[in-house]
Amino acid sequence: LMSLHELAPDQLAELQDKVKRDYEQLESKKLQLDLTRGKPSKEQLDLAADLLEMPGRHNYTDAQGNDLRNYGNLKGITDIRNLWADLLHVRPENLLAGDSSSLNIEFDLISWAYTFGTPNSDRPWSQEEKVKWICPVPGYDRHHSITELFGFEMVNVPMREDGPDVDRVRELVKDPQVKGMWTVPTFSNPTGVSYSEEVVRELAAMETAAPDFRIVWDNAYAVHTLNENFPDIYPVLDYAAEANHPNRFWVMSSTSKITFAGAGVAFFASSPANIDWYCQIASKRGIGPNKLNQLAHAEYFGSAEGVRAVMRRHASILGPKFETVLDILDKRLGGLDVASWTRPEGGYFISLYTPNGTAHRVWELAKNAGIVLTQAGSAYPYGKDPDDHHIRLAPSMPEEDDVKVAMEGVATCVLYAALEKLDEGNNPEVAQAEGASEEADD
Ligand code: PLP
Repeated sequence: LMSLHELAPDQLAELQDKVKRDYEQLESKKLQLDLTRGKPSKEQLDLAADLLEMPGRHNYTDAQGNDLRNYGNLKGITDIRNLWADLLHVRPENLLAGDSSSLNIEFDLISWAYTFGTPNSDRPWSQEEKVKWICPVPGYDRHHSITELFGFEMVNVPMREDGPDVDRVRELVKDPQVKGMWTVPTFSNPTGVSYSEEVVRELAAMETAAPDFRIVWDNAYAVHTLNENFPDIYPVLDYAAEANHPNRFWVMSSTSKITFAGAGVAFFASSPANIDWYCQIASKRGIGPNKLNQLAHAEYFGSAEGVRAVMRRHASILGPKFETVLDILDKRLGGLDVASWTRPEGGYFISLYTPNGTAHRVWELAKNAGIVLTQAGSAYPYGKDPDDHHIRLAPSMPEEDDVKVAMEGVATCVLYAALEKLDEGNNPEVAQAEGASEEADD
């Protein structure tokens, strides 16, 4: 295949005709497909069916003999804390097991820093004139929604192949109003990028003007491989302590995409001072987590290796769906110089980059053909992709055959939009008129 930009005018016209016919054919199929949801499929959820029988009628005490049917144990039971600490390479005393949602814990942390301040804060964040927050982009929309709700000013930092642009981050944190940063360090949502050790060490070691600067280390996909290989899990709490920034990281993890979303166990790991601070406030908010569910999970997994065994089974379901997406993108768009995409080895998403200024158009073309994609721009703070070029693909939910049909359609839409854009470039009058109307809309 040849770059679109090198095609002679007659070749281009021919391709345009073909893509137009492809699109008309696509519309005529009246598809109803959905590539928006980064959720496990039913087949994946069925993997954990045994968990619904656990912990069993006569098994309700933890390793210490505590009756887990009653109140208490704010930090969670040692059975699951030991197992998860082993998996995440942290010390059990640095890790809490909570209820089902890590996003809930993230919300609490921000909310409590806002209301009360952290152990390193001079005052609650609510009393700061302004709070700014670093957002690697594209990123996770629900992270952005939290910091938007609290009125923090979100600052974009581009993601690279090995994590966020750390030079840019290092510059930004010289501003004392910059209080923190979102991260998804492994198989990031939505790029699938894993941070390199160099980037991780740099984030732990860098000097920040704010003494209470925090990195939300949301390791939601720490073991979510698409093949047989598991990624490195870096001991960030150790790196930070060694660099004299022991309280920098709020580490998050959960079993939402390992067992059941909404009915799993979520974990929070951090420094002793941060854990104490968290527990002080959490003890006012509640008495203890769902410990029977924690016991069920400890029994279901058995060990850290047991968790990896479960994840291999997920990989065998998810892997082929991701391969299908990549095969179709390679076959239909490879070499044409119109789009690029990530090739994740884990996680739930692929990032597709279309020509600048076309992502919304691709989304609209797909929608009109019955293929729902995540709204263009949604992976950016305030829903604004400055280049209008990113689309998040989520192949986990639909059946493999549907993923295939949907992606053939998406490829047609990308080509359609790219050719339109090229035409615009070749007909500056049209482009000018459209530019003018765009400005008027703002
Ligand atoms: N963090 C990231 C990066 C996610 O992608 C998701 C779910 O998609 C979550 C957190 C939600 O986690 P939980 O179910 O533990 O609240």
